[in-house]
Amino acid sequence: MPLTSKQMLSIIRNGLARTPHPKKIIVVGAGMAGLVTASLLKEAGHEVVILEATQRVGGRIYTLREPFVDDLYLDVGAMRIPSHHELVIEYIKKFGLEINAFVNTTPNDIIFANGVKTTRKNYQQHPDILRYPVAPHEKGKTAGQLLLAAIQPVIDYIQQDPLKHWQQVIRQFDRYSMETFLRYNPVGASLSSGAVELCKVLLGLEGFPNLSFPAILRELLPLLTPNMLFYEIKGGNDHLPQAFMSQLKDNIFLNQQMIKISQEPHQVTIHSIHTQSQRPLQTTGDLVILTIPFTMLKFVEIEPRHSFSHNKRKAIRELHYVPSTKIGLQFRHRFWEGEGLKGGSLATDLPIRFAYYPSHLIGSTGSGIVLASYTWEDDTLSWDNIPEPDRIRNALDNLATVHGEQIYDDFLVGASHSWSQYRYTGGAAFSMFKPNQETDLYPSIYTPEGRVYFAGEHTSTHPAWIEGAVQSGIRVANDVNYLL
Ligand SMILES: Cc1cc2nc3c(=O)[nH]c(=O)nc-3n(C[C@H](O)[C@H](O)[C@H](O)COP(=O)(O)OP(=O)(O)OC[C@H]3O[C@@H](n4cnc5c(N)ncnc54)[C@H](O)[C@@H]3O)c2cc1C
Repeated sequence: MPLTSKQMLSIIRNGLARTPHPKKIIVVGAGMAGLVTASLLKEAGHEVVILEATQRVGGRIYTLREPFVDDLYLDVGAMRIPSHHELVIEYIKKFGLEINAFVNTTPNDIIFANGVKTTRKNYQQHPDILRYPVAPHEKGKTAGQLLLAAIQPVIDYIQQDPLKHWQQVIRQFDRYSMETFLRYNPVGASLSSGAVELCKVLLGLEGFPNLSFPAILRELLPLLTPNMLFYEIKGGNDHLPQAFMSQLKDNIFLNQQMIKISQEPHQVTIHSIHTQSQRPLQTTGDLVILTIPFTMLKFVEIEPRHSFSHNKRKAIRELHYVPSTKIGLQFRHRFWEGEGLKGGSLATDLPIRFAYYPSHLIGSTGSGIVLASYTWEDDTLSWDNIPEPDRIRNALDNLATVHGEQIYDDFLVGASHSWSQYRYTGGAAFSMFKPNQETDLYPSIYTPEGRVYFAGEHTSTHPAWIEGAVQSGIRVANDVNYLL
């Protein structure tokens, strides 16, 4: 039986039962999944060794501080924590970290689409001002209303009995991409091509419509919930992974990239190389917990090859990961606050696509960093193929199109982070299923292969979120703690 969230919360608060059978457990990857699982297993009395390929812990929680000035920073990985992600919130409480609201959206948010600049509030009152070629019966409705009308029957069905009905929704609709579902709606009114275009531009679906309907629905539901609260950790979200260091600093080996796994009947050996000196290292233990994305596991030699099942090898090869790129621009003055933007976002059909105004230090004088561009899937491609100075210049030009030429005088410095070009994610920002993958691949993603166990966001029921990484870390620690 899978652990309930109540049981998981209790494990975070009180730990696992102390083991009568201590083991040597190698954890590969020091992102949130690896840190959570290592922390719980060490606390339960196991010997834990963590191998991490980079020079830092946190993985896809990554707070960029340089080249920014004035002690400011930008979260180029995970940036917002929904208030219902109770496992992450519990760890934040456990470590006594301070949080502030992440202002995801406000009535003053700017929309700049089809050559029209307006606010979210004005758009909601006059949806047709953006002049998208929607069908006559779709006029007068916002993108959110059109989308909700199309998917409401599925949402209502899920809400009657979430655990049981989600499974049913996956069984019935996993074969649909989001776009196919909206265009050829099997449960309600289909949307016109103009309405689908509007939803893609304003709701951030562009890039996503080819992915599976249930996967995108899972992402969208929290964002469509009215008054949904989000948080961020004061000083940068990397304070969360760093908080594990007081317990785990002696167990972590940084700059150790796993290149091979050798399983034998009574032990398992991880072969790694030091990423700077190239010196090889072999670490042998009773069990291994792999928390790295499958995009990186592809490059690891498995010995013997058939110690991993056919279905696992297929999942490692095929599981879809979404690329994503963020560009941050720092300005001398927080000019956006003068326009009434205190946090919140900009949605546009310009290449930058989505921008977010900082939620911290609102009202302070001095500089601030705007997340000037947040793109994913196909929208990242054009950014990833141009050099860093061009990314910054183009993002600045796009932002000036929205806010006016005067922002050039305020510009201080910029930086970008492309997850598809980052060496240790192998093209991955987060996993998200293509049609049929949840049915076909998910059951083999998290199952152990001999002495090798699997955690990480991609093995969880909350993929693409920190919550999923934490959930997977608790699940696997609980599973291996009770092995004889
Ligand atoms: C752009 C972006 C935006 C996001 N936004 C949000 C958000 O707003 N809110 C939210 O909750 N979540 C968000 N997420 C998702 C969240 O960051 C991830 O789900 C979570 O951090 C994944 O944790 P993990 O432990 O599964 O994997 P990772 O954090 O990727 O950890 C895996 C670790 O393994 C290491 N590694 C890789 N290969 C090897 C190897 N061969 N040998 C040794 N070590 C290796 C990596 O360096 C890494 O440290 C976002 C992610 C991205 C990229």
